[in-house]
Amino acid sequence: MIRVAVSGAAGRMGLEVLKAISAESDMEVVAAVDPRGAGTVYVDAHGEQVAMLPDLHAALMERSPDVLVDFTHPAQVEANVGLALAAGVDCVVGTTGVTLERYGELVSAAPQDTALFVAPNFAIGAVLMMHFAQLAARYMPAAEVIELHHDRKADAPSGTAMRTAQLIAEARTSAPKVPGRETEVAQGARGASVDGIPVHSVRLPGLVAHQEVLFGGQGQTLTIRHDSIDRTSFMPGVLLAVRKVGGLSGLVVGLENLLDD
Ligand code: NAD
Repeated sequence: MIRVAVSGAAGRMGLEVLKAISAESDMEVVAAVDPRGAGTVYVDAHGEQVAMLPDLHAALMERSPDVLVDFTHPAQVEANVGLALAAGVDCVVGTTGVTLERYGELVSAAPQDTALFVAPNFAIGAVLMMHFAQLAARYMPAAEVIELHHDRKADAPSGTAMRTAQLIAEARTSAPKVPGRETEVAQGARGASVDGIPVHSVRLPGLVAHQEVLFGGQGQTLTIRHDSIDRTSFMPGVLLAVRKVGGLSGLVVGLENLLDD
Protein backbone atom coordinates (compact mmCIF):
# COMPACT_ATOMS: atom_id res chain seq x y z
CA MET A 1 0.00 0.00 0.00
CA ILE A 2 1.31 3.46 -0.88
CA ARG A 3 0.53 5.80 2.02
CA VAL A 4 -0.53 9.19 0.64
CA ALA A 5 -1.00 12.58 2.27
CA VAL A 6 -2.98 15.17 0.30
CA SER A 7 -2.50 18.90 0.90
CA GLY A 8 -5.18 21.24 -0.36
CA ALA A 9 -7.55 18.35 0.37
CA ALA A 10 -10.65 20.55 0.72
CA GLY A 11 -10.04 22.33 -2.59
CA ARG A 12 -11.54 21.62 -6.01
CA MET A 13 -8.62 19.38 -7.05
CA GLY A 14 -7.90 18.02 -3.56
CA LEU A 15 -11.39 16.58 -3.13
CA GLU A 16 -11.11 14.88 -6.52
CA VAL A 17 -7.70 13.45 -5.53
CA LEU A 18 -9.10 12.05 -2.25
CA LYS A 19 -11.89 10.35 -4.19
CA ALA A 20 -9.51 8.93 -6.83
CA ILE A 21 -6.92 7.60 -4.35
CA SER A 22 -9.44 6.01 -2.02
CA ALA A 23 -10.95 4.09 -4.96
CA GLU A 24 -7.58 2.37 -5.73
CA SER A 25 -6.53 -0.90 -4.10
CA ASP A 26 -2.77 -0.20 -3.94
CA MET A 27 -2.84 3.19 -2.21
CA GLU A 28 -4.60 4.85 0.71
CA VAL A 29 -5.13 8.37 2.04
CA VAL A 30 -3.40 8.53 5.44
CA ALA A 31 -3.73 12.32 5.83
CA ALA A 32 -6.01 14.92 4.25
CA VAL A 33 -4.61 18.36 5.06
CA ASP A 34 -6.30 21.71 4.53
CA PRO A 35 -6.65 24.60 7.00
CA ARG A 36 -9.91 25.59 5.31
CA GLY A 37 -11.56 22.20 5.81
CA ALA A 38 -9.99 21.44 9.22
CA GLY A 39 -12.39 19.75 11.58
CA THR A 40 -14.60 18.43 8.80
CA VAL A 41 -14.72 14.78 7.84
CA TYR A 42 -14.44 13.36 4.34
CA VAL A 43 -16.10 10.00 3.58
CA ASP A 44 -13.95 8.01 1.15
CA ALA A 45 -14.96 5.60 -1.65
CA HIS A 46 -15.29 2.74 0.92
CA GLY A 47 -17.46 4.76 3.29
CA GLU A 48 -14.52 5.27 5.70
CA GLN A 49 -14.29 8.63 7.47
CA VAL A 50 -11.13 10.70 6.86
CA ALA A 51 -10.61 13.70 9.16
CA MET A 52 -9.39 16.92 7.49
CA LEU A 53 -6.24 18.07 9.37
CA PRO A 54 -5.08 21.70 9.68
CA ASP A 55 -1.29 21.29 9.84
CA LEU A 56 0.91 19.49 7.32
CA HIS A 57 3.98 19.20 9.56
CA ALA A 58 2.01 17.44 12.30
CA ALA A 59 0.31 15.21 9.72
CA LEU A 60 3.68 14.17 8.23
CA MET A 61 5.05 13.34 11.66
CA GLU A 62 1.96 11.45 12.88
CA ARG A 63 0.88 9.60 9.72
CA SER A 64 4.27 8.86 8.05
CA PRO A 65 3.09 9.01 4.41
CA ASP A 66 5.24 7.72 1.54
CA VAL A 67 4.00 10.43 -0.85
CA LEU A 68 2.59 13.95 -0.55
CA VAL A 69 0.20 15.12 -3.28
CA ASP A 70 -0.09 18.92 -3.30
CA PHE A 71 -2.81 20.94 -5.01
CA THR A 72 -2.78 24.15 -2.96
CA HIS A 73 -1.72 27.65 -3.93
CA PRO A 74 1.47 29.21 -5.36
CA ALA A 75 2.03 30.98 -2.02
CA GLN A 76 1.82 27.72 0.00
CA VAL A 77 3.28 24.95 -2.09
CA GLU A 78 6.97 25.74 -1.56
CA ALA A 79 6.63 25.48 2.22
CA ASN A 80 4.63 22.25 1.92
CA VAL A 81 7.14 20.63 -0.42
CA GLY A 82 10.04 21.80 1.76
CA LEU A 83 8.48 20.15 4.84
CA ALA A 84 7.70 16.90 3.02
CA LEU A 85 11.10 16.50 1.36
CA ALA A 86 12.87 17.26 4.66
CA ALA A 87 10.81 14.46 6.23
CA GLY A 88 11.91 12.07 3.46
CA VAL A 89 8.49 12.09 1.77
CA ASP A 90 8.38 12.08 -2.06
CA CYS A 91 6.17 14.78 -3.59
CA VAL A 92 3.70 14.86 -6.48
CA VAL A 93 2.89 18.49 -7.19
CA GLY A 94 0.12 19.87 -9.38
CA THR A 95 0.08 23.37 -7.94
CA THR A 96 1.10 25.89 -10.59
CA GLY A 97 2.56 29.40 -10.42
CA VAL A 98 6.02 28.46 -9.06
CA THR A 99 9.10 28.47 -11.28
CA LEU A 100 10.95 25.25 -12.05
CA GLU A 101 14.14 26.98 -10.85
CA ARG A 102 12.55 27.34 -7.41
CA TYR A 103 11.54 23.67 -7.37
CA GLY A 104 15.12 22.82 -8.34
CA GLU A 105 16.38 24.75 -5.30
CA LEU A 106 13.97 22.89 -3.01
CA VAL A 107 15.18 19.54 -4.33
CA SER A 108 18.84 20.43 -4.00
CA ALA A 109 18.26 21.22 -0.31
CA ALA A 110 16.44 17.89 0.23
CA PRO A 111 17.74 14.45 1.30
CA GLN A 112 19.33 12.61 -1.65
CA ASP A 113 16.87 9.74 -1.97
CA THR A 114 13.75 11.94 -2.19
CA ALA A 115 11.94 12.88 -5.41
CA LEU A 116 9.84 15.84 -6.48
CA PHE A 117 7.55 15.22 -9.43
CA VAL A 118 5.87 18.33 -10.87
CA ALA A 119 3.32 18.36 -13.69
CA PRO A 120 1.86 21.60 -15.01
CA ASN A 121 -0.96 19.42 -16.35
CA PHE A 122 -1.90 15.86 -15.38
CA ALA A 123 -4.40 15.35 -18.23
CA ILE A 124 -3.09 13.06 -20.99
CA GLY A 125 -4.82 15.18 -23.64
CA ALA A 126 -2.93 18.25 -22.48
CA VAL A 127 0.37 16.34 -22.54
CA LEU A 128 -0.41 15.31 -26.13
CA MET A 129 -1.35 18.90 -27.00
CA MET A 130 2.07 20.07 -25.77
CA HIS A 131 3.81 17.26 -27.66
CA PHE A 132 1.99 18.08 -30.92
CA ALA A 133 2.70 21.80 -30.42
CA GLN A 134 6.40 21.05 -30.03
CA LEU A 135 6.31 19.03 -33.26
CA ALA A 136 4.41 21.73 -35.18
CA ALA A 137 6.78 24.47 -33.98
CA ARG A 138 9.64 22.92 -35.95
CA TYR A 139 7.78 23.63 -39.21
CA MET A 140 5.51 26.58 -38.26
CA PRO A 141 7.50 28.84 -35.90
CA ALA A 142 4.93 31.68 -35.68
CA ALA A 143 2.79 30.66 -32.70
CA GLU A 144 0.47 32.11 -30.06
CA VAL A 145 -1.21 30.47 -27.06
CA ILE A 146 -4.69 31.18 -25.70
CA GLU A 147 -5.44 29.58 -22.33
CA LEU A 148 -8.90 29.70 -20.76
CA HIS A 149 -9.65 28.88 -17.11
CA HIS A 150 -12.29 29.28 -14.41
CA ASP A 151 -12.47 32.66 -12.69
CA ARG A 152 -10.93 31.52 -9.37
CA LYS A 153 -7.58 30.44 -10.77
CA ALA A 154 -4.78 32.09 -8.78
CA ASP A 155 -2.06 32.39 -11.42
CA ALA A 156 -1.89 33.73 -14.98
CA PRO A 157 -0.68 32.59 -17.41
CA SER A 158 -1.43 28.97 -16.49
CA GLY A 159 1.40 26.53 -15.79
CA THR A 160 0.39 24.63 -18.92
CA ALA A 161 0.67 27.75 -21.09
CA MET A 162 4.06 28.60 -19.58
CA ARG A 163 5.32 25.07 -20.28
CA THR A 164 3.84 25.03 -23.81
CA ALA A 165 5.57 28.30 -24.67
CA GLN A 166 8.85 26.98 -23.29
CA LEU A 167 8.56 23.78 -25.38
CA ILE A 168 7.69 25.72 -28.55
CA ALA A 169 10.63 28.08 -28.00
CA GLU A 170 12.98 25.10 -27.57
CA ALA A 171 11.65 23.29 -30.66
CA ARG A 172 11.57 26.04 -33.26
CA THR A 173 14.67 26.91 -35.23
CA SER A 174 13.68 30.53 -35.84
CA ALA A 175 11.69 33.00 -33.73
CA PRO A 176 9.69 35.31 -36.00
CA LYS A 177 9.21 38.86 -34.70
CA VAL A 178 5.86 39.22 -32.91
CA PRO A 179 3.89 41.80 -34.92
CA GLY A 180 1.82 44.54 -33.33
CA ARG A 181 3.53 44.80 -29.93
CA GLU A 182 4.80 48.36 -30.39
CA THR A 183 1.46 49.58 -31.72
CA GLU A 184 -0.89 48.18 -29.05
CA VAL A 185 -3.84 50.54 -28.57
CA ALA A 186 -4.71 48.94 -25.20
CA GLN A 187 -1.79 47.65 -23.11
CA GLY A 188 -1.65 43.85 -23.06
CA ALA A 189 -3.71 43.41 -26.21
CA ARG A 190 -0.96 41.31 -27.77
CA GLY A 191 -0.67 39.12 -24.66
CA ALA A 192 2.19 38.37 -22.27
CA SER A 193 5.51 37.32 -23.76
CA VAL A 194 6.62 33.89 -22.46
CA ASP A 195 9.92 32.78 -24.01
CA GLY A 196 9.03 35.14 -26.91
CA ILE A 197 5.61 33.59 -27.54
CA PRO A 198 2.44 35.68 -27.01
CA VAL A 199 0.22 34.07 -24.34
CA HIS A 200 -3.35 35.27 -23.76
CA SER A 201 -5.23 34.35 -20.54
CA VAL A 202 -9.03 34.21 -20.35
CA ARG A 203 -10.79 33.86 -16.95
CA LEU A 204 -14.53 33.18 -16.89
CA PRO A 205 -17.01 31.33 -14.68
CA GLY A 206 -18.14 28.09 -16.30
CA LEU A 207 -14.70 27.19 -17.68
CA VAL A 208 -12.48 24.41 -16.22
CA ALA A 209 -9.11 24.27 -18.06
CA HIS A 210 -8.73 24.80 -21.80
CA GLN A 211 -5.97 25.81 -24.21
CA GLU A 212 -5.50 26.56 -27.88
CA VAL A 213 -2.11 26.69 -29.56
CA LEU A 214 -2.31 28.55 -32.87
CA PHE A 215 0.33 28.34 -35.58
CA GLY A 216 0.39 30.55 -38.67
CA GLY A 217 2.17 29.84 -41.96
CA GLN A 218 1.96 30.92 -45.56
CA GLY A 219 -1.73 30.80 -46.51
CA GLN A 220 -2.63 28.46 -43.62
CA THR A 221 -3.12 28.10 -39.87
CA LEU A 222 -3.02 25.11 -37.55
CA THR A 223 -4.91 25.04 -34.25
CA ILE A 224 -4.32 22.45 -31.53
CA ARG A 225 -6.93 22.58 -28.77
CA HIS A 226 -7.40 20.72 -25.50
CA ASP A 227 -10.35 20.94 -23.10
CA SER A 228 -10.55 19.57 -19.58
CA ILE A 229 -14.29 19.67 -19.09
CA ASP A 230 -14.12 17.89 -15.74
CA ARG A 231 -11.44 17.61 -13.02
CA THR A 232 -11.55 13.81 -13.26
CA SER A 233 -9.45 14.33 -16.45
CA PHE A 234 -6.40 14.91 -14.21
CA MET A 235 -6.83 11.84 -11.98
CA PRO A 236 -5.25 9.02 -14.06
CA GLY A 237 -2.13 11.19 -14.31
CA VAL A 238 -2.07 11.89 -10.58
CA LEU A 239 -2.47 8.17 -9.76
CA LEU A 240 0.32 7.26 -12.20
CA ALA A 241 2.62 9.81 -10.54
CA VAL A 242 1.78 8.50 -7.04
CA ARG A 243 2.73 4.98 -8.22
CA LYS A 244 5.95 6.05 -9.97
CA VAL A 245 7.41 8.82 -7.79
CA GLY A 246 9.02 6.28 -5.40
CA GLY A 247 11.23 5.10 -8.27
CA LEU A 248 12.37 8.62 -9.21
CA SER A 249 15.06 10.82 -7.72
CA GLY A 250 15.53 14.59 -7.74
CA LEU A 251 13.27 16.89 -9.76
CA VAL A 252 11.23 15.39 -12.63
CA VAL A 253 8.92 17.68 -14.63
CA GLY A 254 6.05 16.60 -16.87
CA LEU A 255 3.78 13.55 -17.09
CA GLU A 256 5.41 12.62 -20.42
CA ASN A 257 8.42 11.40 -18.41
CA LEU A 258 6.27 8.75 -16.70
CA LEU A 259 4.58 7.36 -19.82
CA ASP A 260 5.80 4.20 -21.54
CA ASP A 261 7.10 4.63 -25.09
P1 NAD B 1 -8.65 25.54 -4.66
O1 NAD B 1 -8.51 26.98 -4.23
O2 NAD B 1 -10.00 24.98 -4.91
O3 NAD B 1 -7.96 24.61 -3.55
C1 NAD B 1 -6.74 24.91 -2.91
C2 NAD B 1 -6.86 24.43 -1.47
O4 NAD B 1 -5.59 24.53 -0.83
C3 NAD B 1 -7.84 25.27 -0.62
O5 NAD B 1 -8.86 24.44 -0.07
C4 NAD B 1 -6.95 25.87 0.46
O6 NAD B 1 -7.60 26.03 1.72
C5 NAD B 1 -5.83 24.83 0.53
N1 NAD B 1 -4.62 25.30 1.16
C6 NAD B 1 -4.10 26.56 1.17
N2 NAD B 1 -2.97 26.58 1.89
C7 NAD B 1 -2.73 25.31 2.32
C8 NAD B 1 -1.70 24.71 3.09
N3 NAD B 1 -0.65 25.42 3.55
N4 NAD B 1 -1.77 23.37 3.34
C9 NAD B 1 -2.81 22.63 2.88
N5 NAD B 1 -3.84 23.17 2.16
C10 NAD B 1 -3.78 24.48 1.87
O7 NAD B 1 -7.72 25.39 -5.94
P2 NAD B 1 -7.78 24.23 -7.07
O8 NAD B 1 -8.66 24.65 -8.18
O9 NAD B 1 -8.00 22.91 -6.39
O10 NAD B 1 -6.28 24.30 -7.64
C11 NAD B 1 -5.16 24.08 -6.80
C12 NAD B 1 -3.87 24.20 -7.61
O11 NAD B 1 -3.80 23.15 -8.57
C13 NAD B 1 -3.75 25.51 -8.41
O12 NAD B 1 -2.41 25.94 -8.38
C14 NAD B 1 -4.13 25.08 -9.82
O13 NAD B 1 -3.55 25.91 -10.81
C15 NAD B 1 -3.54 23.70 -9.85
N6 NAD B 1 -4.07 22.78 -10.86
C16 NAD B 1 -3.19 21.97 -11.47
C17 NAD B 1 -3.61 21.02 -12.37
C18 NAD B 1 -2.60 20.10 -12.99
O14 NAD B 1 -2.97 19.22 -13.79
N7 NAD B 1 -1.32 20.25 -12.66
C19 NAD B 1 -4.97 20.90 -12.67
C20 NAD B 1 -5.87 21.74 -12.03
C21 NAD B 1 -5.42 22.67 -11.11
